Amino acid sequence: MTLVTTAKYVVGAEVLAKSLRAFRASRPLLALVDSSLPPHVTVRLRQAGWGIKYIAHVENKNTRKLQDRPWFNTTFSKLHVFGLTEYEKIVYVDADVLLLANIDELFEKLPDVGFNVSRPFAASPEMFPPDTFNSGVLVIRPQERVYRWLLEQSLHVSSYDGSDQGFLNTVLSGWWQLDIGHRLDFQYNVHQTVAMYYPPLWENLLRSSRVSVLHFAGDDSMKPWSLSGVIPASLARYVHLWQEIARAPLDADVAPLYLAANAHLPLKARAFDSLSSAGEQEIDHVLDIFQASLKDSVESTSAKH
Ligand code: UDP
Ligand code: MN
Repeated sequence: MTLVTTAKYVVGAEVLAKSLRAFRASRPLLALVDSSLPPHVTVRLRQAGWGIKYIAHVENKNTRKLQDRPWFNTTFSKLHVFGLTEYEKIVYVDADVLLLANIDELFEKLPDVGFNVSRPFAASPEMFPPDTFNSGVLVIRPQERVYRWLLEQSLHVSSYDGSDQGFLNTVLSGWWQLDIGHRLDFQYNVHQTVAMYYPPLWENLLRSSRVSVLHFAGDDSMKPWSLSGVIPASLARYVHLWQEIARAPLDADVAPLYLAANAHLPLKARAFDSLSSAGEQEIDHVLDIFQASLKDSVESTSAKH
């Protein structure tokens, strides 16, 4: 599921739909659309593969903080995702991302065990500060009571950064202390700033197949439809890929574009699982040797006495 409240983000939602198809996403795609969007825009979204659900605009009361960040004005409409109780579970993804892998496994998050019904979401960490969550990728189990409460809170609780993220982290505080089922790995929400400002980490994340969702978070100059000029080479490949996918026809299978750019992580989950289980076997092996040598040394010590 994604959100499109202004025409500017339609191209982002188109790229997301094409990427989800390229990675053979198994669930239906649904775009929450502000009713003020012109009809030709929603026609394009439908052609891209999105089912359309019209939502009412949720007002963002943080007008003073919004003066220098007007694009946050509409993101409170994201709160509607918490109220769509016709769905058992929803994977919500912002319209400013590039997928590098299939993300179906996110539907396995928020299991019954350890589920906190008043915090019915899972999210990846924000980088600053890391004990808050980024609201660009969310797994949600809709709850009517929480939804109503969020809408009510939005009327008077202020957001520390003016956005839905600042608001959600305020009213749904304590996320990082919740059960593991409420936490998503960083790989599901890696910001482009990692590539821009910390290339060694970015390269390492790519090498170990730990970038499933590349999120172009930030103001308009940081979005893949605006990024131009000098972009670090490590990121440029992905910005170009995003732009190529954007140019492809709405119903295109863009898997070949990923293959040509060598930017997909098809073996991600399996490769990573087998790496970590190999790691465990290795640790067991080392422990066995350690214990055997310990036993030897104890035996030889007692033999001396
Ligand atoms: N959005 C939109 N139009 C806007 C601003 C936001 O449709 O003018 C939607 C879109 O899905 C976007 C999400 O709200 O990805 C959150 O906004 P944004 O991604 O710009 O916030 P950031 O991730 O940069 O904090
Ligand atoms: Mn975003």
